[in-house]
Amino acid sequence: MIRRLPTHIVNRIAAGEVVERPASAVKELVENAIDAGAKRIVIELEAGGKGLIAVSDDGIGMTPDELELAIERHATSKLDDDDLVHIDSLGFRGEALAALSGVSRMTLTSRPKDQETAFQITAEAGAVTGPSPAAGQRGTRIEIRDLFFATPARLKFLRTERSEGQAAKEVVERLAMTSPDVAFTLHLDSRQVLNLGVSSGELFQTFKARIGQIMGKAFFQNALAMDTERDGIGLTGMIGLPTESRPNGRFQHLFVNRRPVQDKLLKSALRAAYGDLLFAGRQPMAALFLDLAPERVDVNVHPAKAEVRFREPGVVRGLIIGGIKQRLAEAGCRTTSSLGTAALGVLSAGSQAPTPLTHRSQIERQISPGIGEEARAFQAPLDDSRPTTLDVGPPAARDDSLVGDIAPFIRDHPLGAARAQLFDAYIVAQSHNGMLLVDQHAAHERLVYERLKMALAEQGVPRQGLLLPEVVELEDDLIERLEARLPELERLGLVLETFGQGAVVVREMPAMLKDADIKRLVRDLAEDLVEIDKARSLESALERVAATMACHGSVRAGRRLSMTEMNALLREMEATPNSGQCNHGRPTYVALSEADIERLFKRR
Ligand code: ADP
Ligand code: MG
Repeated sequence: MIRRLPTHIVNRIAAGEVVERPASAVKELVENAIDAGAKRIVIELEAGGKGLIAVSDDGIGMTPDELELAIERHATSKLDDDDLVHIDSLGFRGEALAALSGVSRMTLTSRPKDQETAFQITAEAGAVTGPSPAAGQRGTRIEIRDLFFATPARLKFLRTERSEGQAAKEVVERLAMTSPDVAFTLHLDSRQVLNLGVSSGELFQTFKARIGQIMGKAFFQNALAMDTERDGIGLTGMIGLPTESRPNGRFQHLFVNRRPVQDKLLKSALRAAYGDLLFAGRQPMAALFLDLAPERVDVNVHPAKAEVRFREPGVVRGLIIGGIKQRLAEAGCRTTSSLGTAALGVLSAGSQAPTPLTHRSQIERQISPGIGEEARAFQAPLDDSRPTTLDVGPPAARDDSLVGDIAPFIRDHPLGAARAQLFDAYIVAQSHNGMLLVDQHAAHERLVYERLKMALAEQGVPRQGLLLPEVVELEDDLIERLEARLPELERLGLVLETFGQGAVVVREMPAMLKDADIKRLVRDLAEDLVEIDKARSLESALERVAATMACHGSVRAGRRLSMTEMNALLREMEATPNSGQCNHGRPTYVALSEADIERLFKRR
């Protein structure tokens, strides 16, 4: 027998799709408040939302008649032309309140601007009482108690109060990013966990300020503003520098026409834009707003309205990848060799986005965080009280290895000839059109990483047998960890055997690390394994392994190098793909062209 289901059952079924957990109820209520034109929204949760969810706003409010309609299914004030194209509100399906009223005890209290008193309506698992007069401010307050009490099956799936509360906080944060002109406060069990005020200024500035409030100061200082457009699609927001990457996408906030979305296409485009500026498994941080004509995107794909479909997915993907790549390149993150003025910024401002240098005091201010005390002292204008003649001492003995033979180096090699070493950590080189400053440790780490990657793609890392096997004493838990990885370590060039308790025997070493301190290398690798998830292969954590191996290789910060060694490193960098690119978002070298240098000294 086929029969029509009673309304309260229909609403419960719908609730299964619209409201999955307390955070989804928070999302629907806050969306409604934003749609109602509120300027101030207060959210209170008790017991992670399982006890109480209350959202108060100062928006347009509802009359008693509207209160009754609001909790009816498919009743909405937001679609005025009966098409699903021009949707400029967050809600449009008219089912959230109906669904919520079917699975909880809900009270709606509302007073429109020109109404004397507020009215209230309650619904308990769909049974409605009211409307009746009540005390209430202008605007609307909706309280939901005992969410899912009418659907115990769902209740069982809720997580701890703490994680439900955290999920609700993330929902509020995302929505708050769409509306910097609205103030938000969130209380979890009477503890205020979010208090977002409204900042003044023009639109883009207020958006940026709100992103800063939510993503934090550290992100903000290491982020680049995006503001670009292609084919009538706008892309604005903030993207993190590669140094600010995370192991997951939790700090990626994506919006389409100011609606928060969880969209695979957008997320994969964002990741692709960073390419190998980030290692596998790392995710960029970003808050990005895509704006396009409503007919070019369908927002009615899913009841929770978190997914969208683009009419031209290729165009959207191209815009995100192209736009972000270009922005990162402008900021000097990719190859730093041909950056011109941007390199000046990198050179002087550390990891911050480069700004063109305009006057001397600015240079002094910027040079300090990047290069350290000695360089600053060197840069500072001479103190007037000091004698004006410089005491240069006796002429330095000429280093014969420099003289006469740098011309061919400079002519034949893009990275030129080594000229000096600074602080036992940086190589100064001269190229055909300028100078380079190479971070010897970063460069070597990158070389080791690239070599390991290449060797793994072929037969595995070349090994060298030890004439005398080395016995390394280790704690048992470290040994166990190594034991679980023996075949993988062998592919990385390290052949180990366990040797009773308390020690391992090293039989073969990676050939490229033949001079390393074996004992320390093995211990450090074992320590690394603590942090590499058991389910993850060592190859997927190659970045980490390579960094450890590089630390035990020959070139390290703090080691004095001969001219020959420095030149050998430069030649190897030239021969290795990606050697100039950011490693963990850091450049391995920065370059200044002769023109840049001339500009620094105002000769241009
Ligand atoms: P939708 O938001 O898709 O229209 P809802 O079930 O969420 O559907 O809400 C139904 C209607 O109730 C809305 O269209 C709106 O007219 C009204 N409403 C809900 N919340 C508020 C609020 N906070 N202030 C004013 N009106 C509201
Ligand atoms: Mg709604």
